[in-house]
Amino acid sequence: MPRFSYEEADNYGSQNFEGKINYFQLRKDGEKAYIHLLGNDMNDFPGYAVHQITVGQSKAGKDVHRYVNCLREAGAPVTECPFCAEGKHNPELSKVYAKLFIPVYNCDTDEVQIWERGKKFFRTLASYCSHNPNVSEIVTEVERQGAVGDTATTYGLYPTDEKDDFKMENISEDIPEILGDVVLDKSFDEMDYYVKHNEFEGDKSNSDSGVTRRDSGEATSRRTPTRRRSVEDEY
Ligand SMILES: [Zn+2]
Repeated sequence: MPRFSYEEADNYGSQNFEGKINYFQLRKDGEKAYIHLLGNDMNDFPGYAVHQITVGQSKAGKDVHRYVNCLREAGAPVTECPFCAEGKHNPELSKVYAKLFIPVYNCDTDEVQIWERGKKFFRTLASYCSHNPNVSEIVTEVERQGAVGDTATTYGLYPTDEKDDFKMENISEDIPEILGDVVLDKSFDEMDYYVKHNEFEGDKSNSDSGVTRRDSGEATSRRTPTRRRSVEDEY
């Protein structure tokens, strides 16, 4: 898992990039884009085991979904994670997804974006990185192969000869933390509260009333670092 400061996650947590996370998407079959991967090997692109929740509705009336980090180690009993433990009552909530959240620099829009991919993309990305040393400096062509809604959609990654002197360290934009910004990073107690109330305690950030930041002291006291560290070791 990527390194991040617990203090930072507590203070800013999911709210830091709330509503501002910019996702990389190709919508049509054969559509292409040019990107830099913001990492060089699979250590920079860890997978995440996540649950999906509906956290509210957008102003347009659409459900807003977020991912929440699963607390359970592979093979551990479901009681390790309050969402996993809901299997019988709430199969949707208990479902665990293996995801990649790949930070990319989109050359076409000059923006840092997050590219969400499923488990099947691990091999494609690992192969591409291993064949292209210092891959972050290469302008990579991405091509979507598959129509909207086609579950067999794949993405091709191709190195180009284009030279743009790109260096990751020269990016001025903040890169979202995957755990905390993109994937909600909740404690056991916070997730347990969600199971019982269908919302996170004190979390009104997704309603139209605006963003409410949690009190950082309160958040810290609810943390269970020992449990979290054991989860980190798993990945
Ligand atoms: Zn879980």
